[in-house]
Amino acid sequence: MDSNGSVPNDQGTGLRVRDLRVFYGPVPAVRGVSLDCPPGQVVGVIGANGAGKTSLLSGIAGLVKTQGGKVELDGRDITGWPAHRRGQAGIVYVAERRRVFPSLSVRENLTVGGWGLDKGEVNLRVEKIFTMFPRLKEREKVPSFRLSGGEQRMVSIGRALVTGARVILFDELSLGLAPRIVAELIGTMRSLADEGRIIVLVEQYIGVLLKAADTIGVLERGRVKYSGPANDAAAWLEENGYMAHAKTAGARSGAQSPAGAATGEGR
Ligand code: ATP
Repeated sequence: MDSNGSVPNDQGTGLRVRDLRVFYGPVPAVRGVSLDCPPGQVVGVIGANGAGKTSLLSGIAGLVKTQGGKVELDGRDITGWPAHRRGQAGIVYVAERRRVFPSLSVRENLTVGGWGLDKGEVNLRVEKIFTMFPRLKEREKVPSFRLSGGEQRMVSIGRALVTGARVILFDELSLGLAPRIVAELIGTMRSLADEGRIIVLVEQYIGVLLKAADTIGVLERGRVKYSGPANDAAAWLEENGYMAHAKTAGARSGAQSPAGAATGEGR
């Protein structure tokens, strides 16, 4: 990222994770996961509850201690770096649960994401977020504790986008959002990747990932069970029973269905 927070689209080899391990005491959450996330691609990770998705992202962002393996960004080994240093290097984690500063207004929450950047640039980026989420524009001056869950989620996503981050780790992007907003965000993922960013998108919902991701990794009990291009992943997910429930729900209501719902995989 340059001093204006913009992300050049011709740099680096991207994010490379090798044999990453995360344990909580004796409990293994991530058991040797490798992932290649080149610039310009949306890398999707799917898995049931407890498969280790959040722990994987936390390990990449430096939010939990890792017990083995390596994280590289553009060829630099960042495994030993604390979270704040990874943040400075442009790695942003958008948590599954909404995180806003409750007493700050919507605009103030978004502006915080642009800390250290040129004020004019931050305002431009905030306006872009308002175009993406018109509901936030309507509530621009409202203290964030008054927002609905979905609106707070929009704010936390918007704040990450304002940072101009190089790597954005989205945990359960679609959680708590209406299908219309999710569809818009899938388009946003694409634009962010096209700008040369690295996007890792963790989801329980197969439909969202198949639409958004270039490559997909399937996590089961802390291990990568499958990884490949999204087109091929659809066939694998079908063969392995992940799609059965998704199809039924889709035919009935157009709803998205969680991974592992048909197989009971996960914990
Ligand atoms: P979910 O979609 O439910 O968040 P996940 O795929 O993100 O699931 P993780 O939250 O990474 O999975 O959890 C992986 C495993 O680690 C689970 O068995 C979980 O119970 C365990 N785990 C997660 N956080 C902790 C923690 N702070 N302490 C102990 N065990 C934990």
